[in-house]
Amino acid sequence: MNHRVYIGIGSNLGDRERNLFAAVGALRRMDTVAVRRCSSIYESAPVGPPQPRFLNAVVEVDTALPPLRLLSCLKQIEADLGRVRRKRWGPREIDLDILLWVGEVIAEPQLQVPHLELHKRRFALEPLCELAPDVEHPVTGERMCELLQRLAPQDCVKCAGPDSLFVADAD
Ligand code: ATP
Ligand code: CA
Ligand code: CA
Repeated sequence: MNHRVYIGIGSNLGDRERNLFAAVGALRRMDTVAVRRCSSIYESAPVGPPQPRFLNAVVEVDTALPPLRLLSCLKQIEADLGRVRRKRWGPREIDLDILLWVGEVIAEPQLQVPHLELHKRRFALEPLCELAPDVEHPVTGERMCELLQRLAPQDCVKCAGPDSLFVADAD
């Protein structure tokens, strides 16, 4: 479990909160991933076509998996939780993105980490900064809290505290 990784989770279809709990539960059941902490839950305006508002959070994990293996596990969790592939940036039951892999840059055709939009998205940076404000962007060296400070205001509000994802997932 020697890599520290931050996974962004989001949902804007169905029971959004339940979908986030289920995603954290699925991560916790993986032998190859140790879930350490979860952020608060935020509600944010969608990017892309008009659609329901999102709930978002970030999960801090340790893993020994190589990046592409972790990505395929995350896609499997999305499928297990009923995500149907629709158009890009469309509504979804659950989305799991690898936001940040501490100290690593991943540039594969199917996986770019840090996530290419991370520095533009308050719904990703705000929960990430609860967990990792001082972690540096592996390309620019800027700390996550510095990236957040630079962001213009965006419609993204905290709606549940940092314990809610853990407490509700006590199975
Ligand atoms: P966005 O990436 O802008 O948040 P999205 O989450 O809606 O958009 P998806 O349809 O979920 O996009 O994924 C499209 C593809 O993005 C995935 O099949 C995956 O191969 C690729 N991808 C590239 N980088 C990442 C990353 N850091 N985390 C997750 N998927 C990634
Ligand atoms: Ca996404
Ligand atoms: Ca995604």
